[in-house]
Amino acid sequence: MGECIFCKIANGEFNTDFLYEDDLVVAFRDIEPQAPDHILIIPRDHYISIKDISDEAIIGRLFLAGNKVVEQLGISSFRYVINTGKDAGQAVFHIHLHLLAGRKMGWPPG
Ligand code: AMP
Repeated sequence: MGECIFCKIANGEFNTDFLYEDDLVVAFRDIEPQAPDHILIIPRDHYISIKDISDEAIIGRLFLAGNKVVEQLGISSFRYVINTGKDAGQAVFHIHLHLLAGRKMGWPPG
């Protein structure tokens, strides 16, 4: 998708430092971190949201990539978040799995 910022990141157009990458997904740090560790894991291919992915390999790989980053950073407590739709806080319409860690987090989420 031509104008999608996350497609461009996945394509390496900004020389983003990937904490993890493979043939299906890439992981990189959020530009506006909401926790000391805030990593986004995205598929290389463009899907607007999680409900648009029917390929279980990609859904699985997003979480496995997140787990690899968790291990790499030595994180023990963390939260995965997938905001889906405007009212849930989705601002970038290329699906991304948030990995948040490094501070105490409240529940329920706001
Ligand atoms: P969401 O609100 O769930 O759609 O999350 C979008 C996230 O993408 C936010 O946490 C933004 O800070 C982050 N973000 C937007 N543009 C960039 C970028 N160029 N590089 C890294 N993170 C970004």
